[in-house]
Amino acid sequence: MNIVVCVKQIPDPAAPQSLEAGTNTLDRSGKLILDDSDAYGVEMALQLAEQAGGGEVTLVSMAPNGETAGLRTALAMGAAKAILVSDDALKGSDALSTAKVLAAAIKRANADLVIAATESSDGYTGTTPVQIAEILGLPSITFAKSVAIEGTSVKVDRQTEAGYDEVTAPLPALVTVTAGVVEPRYPSFKGIMAAKSKPVETLSVADLGLDASQVGALGGRQSITSVDEAEARNAGEVVVDEGDGAQRIVTFLENLKVI
Ligand SMILES: Cc1cc2nc3c(=O)[nH]c(=O)nc-3n(C[C@H](O)[C@H](O)[C@H](O)COP(=O)(O)OP(=O)(O)OC[C@H]3O[C@@H](n4cnc5c(N)ncnc54)[C@H](O)[C@@H]3O)c2cc1C
Repeated sequence: MNIVVCVKQIPDPAAPQSLEAGTNTLDRSGKLILDDSDAYGVEMALQLAEQAGGGEVTLVSMAPNGETAGLRTALAMGAAKAILVSDDALKGSDALSTAKVLAAAIKRANADLVIAATESSDGYTGTTPVQIAEILGLPSITFAKSVAIEGTSVKVDRQTEAGYDEVTAPLPALVTVTAGVVEPRYPSFKGIMAAKSKPVETLSVADLGLDASQVGALGGRQSITSVDEAEARNAGEVVVDEGDGAQRIVTFLENLKVI
């Protein structure tokens, strides 16, 4: 069972963020880390490969400046190798042009299953994985809360507002997983050391056989016209319990119509 996991490397959400000078896009020039959302996909892939009794987990990422820090974290968890697409021509990529690049990279990996997160933590259009599936002509199942391989099919419990649907697709297929599908493992010291020597193939746009006019700002269909400050959160209400605390909580929840 060969599984590809799409792994986005993002600016550390705990660090202050800024926009790239003269643009409305996030400054991604500093160190990038593994998006937490993708740790679930990596763990799911490792477990499925283990259950299948063989095969490899390959990571695919598109990131600027040849960044591999986030990939090394996922390799330390147990993935076998990685493909990184990094090229100045990718600057200004929107979700569709990102999907074109990732799809071209995934084609090289001969995957039975492609896993991605439902949405990333920094951009979160939530559209990239299904666009990859469309480009590759694969069936896709989104919002997986559990994934199992049954013969030549993948069976997914797909989270819905009301509960979940049981959905099956023939392999090869693409599945997006939600946080909570599995508990990601922490990389062990041995894993971290091993990750340093695992292969990371770095490719340019030309290596993928794509034309520079199809990717980056040239191939993008979206542009960010303005960016606004997020609304400041209002201070919460502090309730001091003077014997009526429980009742006040009940009243508060009733007013919100949640009970
Ligand atoms: C108008 C516009 C301009 C942009 N300009 C730039 C830019 O100049 N430089 C830049 O670096 N980025 C830029 N981006 C962001 C970048 O192209 C994003 O990777 C892409 O838009 C998809 O991100 P998302 O967060 O919406 O993915 P989502 O669809 O929310 O992601 C879902 C999942 O898809 C997978 N995935 C998504 N992106 C990647 C990736 N890059 N590598 C591997 N897996 C991935 C992950 O599993 C992720 O969790 C821009 C985006 C837009 C919309």
